[in-house]
Amino acid sequence: TLEPQMAANLDGGTGGELNAAALMAGLRTYFRSGTTADLAWRRQQLSQLRRMLSDNEEQFLQALREDLNKAPQEGYTTEVSALYGDIDHALKYLKKWAGKRRVSTPVIAQPGRSYIQPEPLGVVLIIGAWNYPLQLLLSPLVPAIAAGNCAVVKPSELAPATSKLVTELLPRYLDNDAFACVEGAVPETTALLEQRWDHILYTGGGAVGKIVMNAAARHLTPVTLELGGKSPCIVADDANIDVAARRIAWGKFTNAGQTCVAPDYLLCTKATADRLLPAIEKAVREMFGDDPGRSADYGRIVNRRHAQRLADYLADGDVVFGGRVEIENRYVAPTVLRNVGVQAPVMQEEIFGPMLPVIELEDFGQVEAFVNGREKPLALYVFTRNEHLADRILSHCSSGNACVNDCMMFMTAHDLPFGGVGPSGMGAYHGEHGFKTFSHFKAVMKRSYLFDLDLRYAPFTGKKFKL
Ligand code: NAD
Repeated sequence: TLEPQMAANLDGGTGGELNAAALMAGLRTYFRSGTTADLAWRRQQLSQLRRMLSDNEEQFLQALREDLNKAPQEGYTTEVSALYGDIDHALKYLKKWAGKRRVSTPVIAQPGRSYIQPEPLGVVLIIGAWNYPLQLLLSPLVPAIAAGNCAVVKPSELAPATSKLVTELLPRYLDNDAFACVEGAVPETTALLEQRWDHILYTGGGAVGKIVMNAAARHLTPVTLELGGKSPCIVADDANIDVAARRIAWGKFTNAGQTCVAPDYLLCTKATADRLLPAIEKAVREMFGDDPGRSADYGRIVNRRHAQRLADYLADGDVVFGGRVEIENRYVAPTVLRNVGVQAPVMQEEIFGPMLPVIELEDFGQVEAFVNGREKPLALYVFTRNEHLADRILSHCSSGNACVNDCMMFMTAHDLPFGGVGPSGMGAYHGEHGFKTFSHFKAVMKRSYLFDLDLRYAPFTGKKFKL
């Protein structure tokens, strides 16, 4: 019976006991029924997901406003419309992605045909983060559906309005036998992680990433970990300062800096910093006015604990501009810090907030050593007019993703894989890369009964081999 799964789904929303085993049993039974293998069904589910968003757009934007004070335009572009893009892209290419791919067959296996056949993994778990609570939860669900899986999504408890809304709406639009949304925090996630999933995609910090990977290892479940890190923003002396400043300010202060691919710190010479920092201040003023605290377009920190954590960084350097913090209002002004020690907490931890420390190098040639002396970041940014310089830095410094002369824009390209490397994550998704993440590529060879040469069969005496 599929009833327990529905009950578990509803319980997740009301804080009752989550019966993760019953939920899993129901989903697995349904997966085995073969319904999800049908491309028409997958298409219908993707369209329904799109409909859930479009029917309830206002409510989603309102929830994002409540959780993070996201301006509706920002919520729309970075979350809702990004998801429309994901869904439309998947609908357009689903047939191609899911099709068999013919490959060559060696002479020894002729007559025969070889091909790669994608198949769904089964029942997958997607654990979302709070900073883009809608997009980071549903963007992995799109390829999970496209690849023909059943899935459970677990929204972040730190963005409660979005979590509640998705949990309420998802069952109204998607096939309840195949998908469930489970609200909850550590106990619920722990209960889910005890189950045997066919894949887990987790977005969040590395500490919990280790918990997820440990739990997955017990069942040999493969994982995709979308983690974070300190993404450097390198600005060369020849950069277009005004454009760079605007793009850096946008990358750093969108969503009040709570973006996994936000530039974490600036790396440049003192001469460049002297020109760049006033330009960033100007860009901030143009975006959010003289007092960002009164701007309808400037976000809030997710909770007071994180606001306090960010406030503590103010002790780590000299405030160039900003520096105002109101813990009660979860407000942290766009802030730039100078004269920051590399051992200070602000340079040791991922900032994940609107504070931009500047590391001034005596010689620009030190940038690669500086970046390579630290953990591999999720993103790396280089601003320069010199393409050779950009290429050299990109080939010498490892990072999950990179962008030259802009921040974060690689996220918009469906054909680019999005994922980290080393401590910033493993695996990737977006577009076809997401489809691959949630698929197994089965190697198939079809042979004919013709020409059954006895060369390979024992006894081998008297047979001539050329090894
Ligand atoms: P988090 O690690 O606190 O939470 C992520 C999820 O894990 C939540 O759903 C939460 O309920 C669950 N969780 C928390 N504690 C758990 C536990 N003990 N056991 C099981 N599950 C648990 O998220 P965070 O660290 O606050 O998120 C910020 C981090 O996420 C940053 O490092 C950021 O860079 C990273 N991030 C990465 C991406 C990406 O796409 N690569 C996107 C957003 C955020």
